[in-house]
Amino acid sequence: MKQRWLAVLLVLILLLSSCARPEVAMTEVQFVLGTVVSLDIRDHASETLMKSLTSHLTLIENLMSPTIKTSDVYRLNHAGGQALLVSNYTYAVLGKALEYARVTRELFDPTLGTLINIWGIGTDGAKIPSQHEIDSAIVMRGIDNVEMLGKYQVRLTGNAQLDLGAIAKGYAADELVRLAKRAGVQSAIFNLGGNVIVLGSKGTNPFRIAIQNPFSERDDYLGILDARDTSIVTSGDYERYFIGPDGTKYHHILDPRTGFPADNELASITIVCPNSTLADALSTAVYVMGLEAGLGYVNSLEGVEAIFVTKTRDVYLTRGIGDSFTLTDDTFRLMQ
Ligand code: AMP
Ligand code: MG
Repeated sequence: MKQRWLAVLLVLILLLSSCARPEVAMTEVQFVLGTVVSLDIRDHASETLMKSLTSHLTLIENLMSPTIKTSDVYRLNHAGGQALLVSNYTYAVLGKALEYARVTRELFDPTLGTLINIWGIGTDGAKIPSQHEIDSAIVMRGIDNVEMLGKYQVRLTGNAQLDLGAIAKGYAADELVRLAKRAGVQSAIFNLGGNVIVLGSKGTNPFRIAIQNPFSERDDYLGILDARDTSIVTSGDYERYFIGPDGTKYHHILDPRTGFPADNELASITIVCPNSTLADALSTAVYVMGLEAGLGYVNSLEGVEAIFVTKTRDVYLTRGIGDSFTLTDDTFRLMQ
């Protein structure tokens, strides 16, 4: 009898310890939010946690994609000015998007949907729109057209169309960290197609994050950033673009003032800050600002750092990056 109880106890102990074994590490790769997402959890991982992370990413895509017909964004864009009930996740992202649009003077603008559609960059139908089409699309933008009415009700007015493509991956990254922390994870790295977030560190060392070389078609990097508990988000003209008949590169980061792809000295910009939703919105806005205005702007923000890479291969850092960045490719120049 005593032996039987002992056996039951042993099985119980084994079962419990397999649920949340501190040392369990797991990785998973998923195609979601239009990109390859890799989840790398270094402790306290379980099948249940991995499943909850991947299904949460799918949920975010299903709510925020502008092309999925049942998504909140699609429904709002086709509601003809009616107020709609959206999910609490969409409501939260929209609230943040409006806040970040205000602080960047709408250079990050979540209401650029029409302009983004007529360019179609990254789709088979990419083309240079007529000036008339661009002018009409610019008239439709503006965050005053987004009314957040409380109780998860949202109304779009004045023909504005939402596109959350510049912020949704950052939000998704923050959500991954929130869920992982809740499950007891202390060390993890999530990469959403170049939007990286790290939870904790790699033992006693920081994570070493490769910063993409914007001139390379392959996954080459130009430098390494040491990172703990932060997010590293890059925007650049190399991610999605087409070459026009005149040889000009038309890329996917649009300047809301001109209606054209932002045309300045930058090839890429990397934002480093703990809040990935903010980092994502800023990566897009600061790319539009350009080098001088962008450097001044990021240096004025508390807890936000940046790495600017120009088309002439000069690399500029904000003041707080310090020794955490190492340039590894000597075809680039570190500017002081
Ligand atoms: P990111 O890679 O974060 O810079 O986001 C780029 C994506 O955001 C584009 O593919 C568009 O869907 C959208 N987008 C482009 N320009 C802007 C802008 N100025 N403000 C907000 N979203 C934009
Ligand atoms: Mg962005």
